[in-house]
Amino acid sequence: MPGLIDQTLLLQAVVFASQKHRTQRRKDGVTPYVNHPLQVALILAEFGGIVDAEILSAAVLHDTVEDTDTTLGEVGMHFGDRVRALVAEVTDDDTMPHPLRKQSEIDHAPQLSEGATLIKLADRTSNVMDLVEAPAAGWDLKRRQGYLVWAERVVNACKPVNRPLLENFREVAERVREQLGMLPSSQFPDSQFSNSQLTARS
Ligand code: ZN
Repeated sequence: MPGLIDQTLLLQAVVFASQKHRTQRRKDGVTPYVNHPLQVALILAEFGGIVDAEILSAAVLHDTVEDTDTTLGEVGMHFGDRVRALVAEVTDDDTMPHPLRKQSEIDHAPQLSEGATLIKLADRTSNVMDLVEAPAAGWDLKRRQGYLVWAERVVNACKPVNRPLLENFREVAERVREQLGMLPSSQFPDSQFSNSQLTARS
């Protein structure tokens, strides 16, 4: 029933994602991977006020197809067509070379559906938080700064579908800027970073 939380669907997504990501760690090498998709769903509920169980479930499942052996068919079979479509929209095309993929995420952001835009915003928020809370092993300061600027570009390109969620991202991003020794975005035009710096792998 739209508007009502379907706890069973959401808990099934939690169990499914935990199982699929069970052997994986986040880029810090320590944090269980599933903490991230759970945090994305929590950001949607807590800051975005999202109660739509299919969107929350898709948030929990958003990295299963990209990062595990899960297929979209499997997601559709367990969680239905709408969740499958949302997960498909936020799954990167990993046949594309890395720098092109980073640029294409910015280019495609405005075309995402409202549900996928919400998940993208919360996903970028979680990843930006991780830059200081669980930094990727081997990422130097410049790479973390570059990631933050890229994430801001992705979010700026997204349709403004949920103001509180967007404001939360900006607050997090400004705090992380400070922690990474960067000026606030208002005083630090991101044009100081070239595209190659933003999309380089190292
Ligand atoms: Zn993610």
